[in-house]
Order: sequence, then structure tokens, then C-alpha cells
Amino acid sequence: MNKTPCLTVAIPVYNEQDVIEELINRVAQVLDAIPGGPHQIVIVDDGSHDDTAKLLSQAVAVDPRIVAVSFSRNFGQQPAYAAALEYAEGDAVVLMDGDLQDPPEQIPALLARYNEGFDVVYAVRVNRKENILKRTCYNLFYRLIKRLSKTTLPRDSGDFSIISRRVADLLVRDADRHRYLRGIRSWVGFKQTGIEIERAPRAGGDTKYTLRKLFRLAADGIFSFSLIPLRLATLIGALSVFVALGLTVFATWARFTAPDKLPEFMSEIPAGFTAQLVAISFFAGVQLMFLGVVGEYVGRIFEEVKGRPSFIVESVIGNSAKCKANMQKTTDSSTIITGGGDRENPTS
Ligand code: UDP
Ligand code: MG
Repeated sequence: MNKTPCLTVAIPVYNEQDVIEELINRVAQVLDAIPGGPHQIVIVDDGSHDDTAKLLSQAVAVDPRIVAVSFSRNFGQQPAYAAALEYAEGDAVVLMDGDLQDPPEQIPALLARYNEGFDVVYAVRVNRKENILKRTCYNLFYRLIKRLSKTTLPRDSGDFSIISRRVADLLVRDADRHRYLRGIRSWVGFKQTGIEIERAPRAGGDTKYTLRKLFRLAADGIFSFSLIPLRLATLIGALSVFVALGLTVFATWARFTAPDKLPEFMSEIPAGFTAQLVAISFFAGVQLMFLGVVGEYVGRIFEEVKGRPSFIVESVIGNSAKCKANMQKTTDSSTIITGGGDRENPTS
């Protein structure tokens, strides 16, 4: 394995004006100390409406290693990672959040493990700094998805990782459709391992992941990687048919052969009223719930069929690093590049 791979650090940012400077300084400093450079920093601005874009273009002017990709609007963190991967030219790619919760100073540790011959080295989060509610939700989610999915999705591992060129290529092909990068990263296989890295608190600003976005990500994780919710519908359906069958036998028997043997309370209320009420509301609930589950999958199929890109690039500034001198991707600021499907060649 190449001992000094040229690295690309891929970072999604959304309204991160408070941290962008510190982010770039710290990443640049870490990369300076890693042989094999000049390395590359790809920062994807996910439709920020604060000063992120301005700060990015200033940074690009100063540091030729930086490529800044801007989306036409906010598409979400996972599409932003997918876009960053498209522009990543390194032999290995480091994926990390832009709020410095993933400390750039840990990149050498990831790289050291990577150089032992792994294709993927991901950070396992220890000592999360989030509040207790968020921590509990994360915990539940990772345990749930571990049970539900056939792919072994490593617990408590986020996007912070280093991946090889071949894994990056596979992710580029697949990532934007799945929108759950760490799932597909695990699904591709090869030699993977995790190292424990403490997750720092945010360096500034507030979380850009609203609860709604977080639930959408969790749903993407579950429904893209498991058919168990659907099978659960079959199972519960079968169970209720079984129970209903028993009730039918009992009701028929009571009605025709032994009306006097009915328990006292059942003779006081109109026959079958309670049973009907319970059965109707329970089964209606179960049916609606699983209609929702089926809907989740149908919705996903619908989105796949439409084949719409999961992001639109409005502009790209900065020269790519010279990892692959023959693959220069400098573009003018009006190039429209869409994620998924065939990408236009930005240089043509
Ligand atoms: N992010 C993004 N688009 C979004 C939301 C977040 O690019 O729509 C970026 C954000 O700037 C950060 C990373 O994704 O670099 C992780 O987001 P955040 O820290 O807000 O999430 P949390 O760590 O709170 O779950
Ligand atoms: Mg964060």
C-alpha cells in the first residue's frame, strides 16, 4: 500500500461562517505536516446564506489546495458529501464535518491505520458532547439499525473517516442515490476498521441539523438498508389473521351452541360491541401504520425513478491540487453540474 497517499479532505458546510476560518487553518496545518502533498481540501457550500461563500472564496485565493464547490440551494449534508467526493482527486479521501466536531488533528491517526492496509478507517465516536436527548436518540438508532440491516453498519461511526480511491469511486457512483453515506461505505466491503476518536463540541455556531433533517437521515438509513419493516407488516398481518380466526371460532361457538355460557359482562352490553370496537380501531391502526411503511419504500422508488439529481452545483472555484495533474478540473463560475447520472465535463 502507498505509504504517502495524496489526501483529499472533503468537507460539507452550511452556514458555518463562525468556524470556517478556524476550520481551514486547522486542516491546512495538519495537511502541511503530512508527507505526500500538496494535498487537496474540497469544501462544499451547501447553499449557505451567511458569509460562508465569501469566506470560502477568500480562502481559495490564499491557499491553492482548496476547491470550493457551491450548491444552487441547500440540498443537505449527505448530497454535499457526495459532491465533495466527485471533486476529490486524492489517493485517499478524508470525510469530515465542517464544524470541527471531527478534529482535523486526528487525521494522522486515521491515516496511520489506513496505511496498515485498510480501505476504510472510520472514527468510532466516544464521549459525545451532545445533550442527553440527542445522545439517547443516536444510541437507539444505531442499535435499531444494527438489528434491522443485513449490512453490518458499525455502531457509533459517523461520516468522519478515511477511504481509499476505489471506495471513493464506488461511493461517487452510488452515494447520491442512497443518501446515507456511512451505510453504503460499509456496504461496499473491503478491509474496514474503526478507531476511537473523541467527538469535540462544535467550534462555533449552532447545529445545522434540525430534528426533521436528523429524522430524515435516520429514515434514509433504515429504509435504504433494510426490508425488515416490510416483513414486519407481513408478520403482524399473519398474527392478526391468526387471532381473528380464533375469535371467529369462539364467536360462532358461543352464538350457536352455548349462548348461556358467555361471561356475565358480555351479556350486559350489546353483543360484540366491545370486541368490534377494539378490533376495528386496532387493526385500522396497524393497517395505517404499515401503509405508511409501504409508502416510505414507494416514495423512495418514486424518487429513484424520477432520476432527479440530488444536488446542483452552481459554481466551483479553485484549482484542484496536483494529485493528478492530468485531471485538472478548474471551472468557471457558471458551470452547472448535477449529481447522479452523467456529469458534464466541466472543462469542456
Ligand atoms: N451540513 C450541511 N448541510 C445541511 C446541514 C448540515 O452541509 O443541510 C453540514 C454542517 O455545516 C456540518 C455538517 O454538515 O459541517 C454536520 O452538521 P451539524 O454539525 O449541524 O450536525 P450535528 O453534528 O449537529 O448532527
Ligand atoms: Mg456537528
